[in-house]
Amino acid sequence: MPNEEKILQLIAKAEQEHTLKKEELTCLLASSQAEEPLAAAADHVRQKFVGDGVHLRGLIEFSNICRQDCMYCGLRRDNQRLERYRLGADEIVGLAEKAKGDGYHTVVLQSGEDMYFTAERLAGIIRRIKALDLAVTLSVGERSFDEYRLWREAGADRYLLRIETTDREVYEKFDPGMSYDNRVRCLRDLRTLGYEVGTGTLVGLPGQTPVSIAEDILFYQKLDADMVGIGPLIPNPDTPLGSAPKGDFHLTRRMVSLLRLLLPEANIPATTAMETMVPHGRELILASGANVVMPNVTEGDSRRKYALYPGKICVADTPAQCRRCMGGRIKAMGRFIAEDKGFRKHRRDLSI
Ligand code: SAH
Repeated sequence: MPNEEKILQLIAKAEQEHTLKKEELTCLLASSQAEEPLAAAADHVRQKFVGDGVHLRGLIEFSNICRQDCMYCGLRRDNQRLERYRLGADEIVGLAEKAKGDGYHTVVLQSGEDMYFTAERLAGIIRRIKALDLAVTLSVGERSFDEYRLWREAGADRYLLRIETTDREVYEKFDPGMSYDNRVRCLRDLRTLGYEVGTGTLVGLPGQTPVSIAEDILFYQKLDADMVGIGPLIPNPDTPLGSAPKGDFHLTRRMVSLLRLLLPEANIPATTAMETMVPHGRELILASGANVVMPNVTEGDSRRKYALYPGKICVADTPAQCRRCMGGRIKAMGRFIAEDKGFRKHRRDLSI
């Protein structure tokens, strides 16, 4: 068991040099004593590299239809208990327009892997949203290089695709029919095409260990990820992982702080899953290294039906309520809502 002095030394090293070895990462991830000093160091690095602005990204959950069968996810193909929906192009563009009216500068288009949205169809929607002068982030799963290219040419700026875990065996066990190599291929293609690339970990998959989470962090560093979103597993009773233990909130928080220390310029969200698990979890995570929040701007019943996991927060609220609520909470922390599109800053842009 490492002593307190050793822990503080490692954190100081990470804060100065932004590197740690796998064993050092593992030691900090596994240590509950490390949590508060890690959060304090990460908050400091966040302030220094990306400032006090919090970027809001308006999340549009436009279809819960999915061809994949991930064993943790409520949208999985085999889940018969989910009422399925798909929004039309005009509805999606309408939500983006409203988000713009509510002061958002980015929308995130997220869905299951719904093949109704051919590359052409989605490209048309992207072009219409780009004409509103919004940044567009896509999060629609695995597609080919050519499909990603068409969307990039249509104006998409960013792409979110969590690797979920870099433990190949765990990945392929819980994402049946999917291959780890193809997931990595997607991330590489997105990078090649000039997207800002977001990825991340689902913390709490059975079989995951502090060592594999340390490897995830090193993978994100190697990929030079622009965004890293992580959240704890919230077992969904309508899935095969329904009775698995939930992901560890504190481990997830330590991981967020370590990500900030090792990828100081990255955009790191305080995810909805954190708040589903702990009231005001997003504020705690914003104070532990994060600088992004993704409020839901989907309207009506679709909010409830986009049920990745149970107990999702704010399903009965309107987008305007969410925007006001988050705005107030961010100000109360002494932070502010950033007014730019929130592209990733690069160290060479900073005079330090
Ligand atoms: N189809 C898209 C979007 C997936 S949903 C894609 O493949 O990228 C977005 C994220 O929700 C997933 O990457 C996963 O990490 C997370 N998620 C799914 N089920 C979850 C659960 N039960 N608990 C917590 N997070 C979950």
